[in-house]
Amino acid sequence: MTADLTFHGEPPTHLTYPGLQAQGLWHASTTRHCPGIAHPSRPVSPVGREGAMLLAPAGPDLGRVAFLHQVHGTTVVRVEEPGGLAGEGDALLTTRPQMPLAVFTADCLAVVLFDPVGQRLGLAHVGWRGTVKSALPAVVDALVAAGARPAALVAAIFPSIGPCCYEVDRPVIDPLSAAFPGRWESWVRPSGPGKWRLDLWAANQSQLETAGLRPDRILNARLCTACRPDLFFSYRREGSRGRLVTLAALPGRGASEA
Ligand SMILES: [Zn+2]
Repeated sequence: MTADLTFHGEPPTHLTYPGLQAQGLWHASTTRHCPGIAHPSRPVSPVGREGAMLLAPAGPDLGRVAFLHQVHGTTVVRVEEPGGLAGEGDALLTTRPQMPLAVFTADCLAVVLFDPVGQRLGLAHVGWRGTVKSALPAVVDALVAAGARPAALVAAIFPSIGPCCYEVDRPVIDPLSAAFPGRWESWVRPSGPGKWRLDLWAANQSQLETAGLRPDRILNARLCTACRPDLFFSYRREGSRGRLVTLAALPGRGASEA
């Protein structure tokens, strides 16, 4: 399964993983050039008409998108009814066809977990705190509780801060090393006295593999948001300028049976 991304528009307004699309999952992850994306603190659909026309001209109704008040935790909120603010948490799960889910990021990881066999979908927001708390394994657990097999899942990690740009210090390393003794060392490189560069991609891929996902079914283009201010918002680089939104929805029943 290829981890190549396709960019849409000029300048690009959003991107997709053809490898994920080939599995039948509609999805899109915006760049900083996508119009009509509201600030996620507002409890209204974060995708305005202009954005919806661009992102899903023939796809799910983004006026009904479900999203969360994100708090860097491990709560998985299951949504089966259309849309809006679905509560507090950092991961959404649905089995409902055409029910769009959204998470917001600006350096953190947006991760799709898709079960093409049983048509189950998870979408998570994971930063260093979620990494320390095993947020992605919690989503895998929730999908398994809903009937999925981990080996059947496809994961996709969207553009987020890379080890090239993510320097951390003790307040991050202490809880990480306590949570993952013997494992955390392979996710960091020392970069100065009391400083490390943390590879959140490697840490989360490792957690997914431990949870039973096949390495060849984890897509990661390894595209860093802080390296590419021309394309993305980066909290590290420029503060609260804006957020990227990653959306996904299961196909309609007809499509899933095809
Ligand atoms: Zn970078």
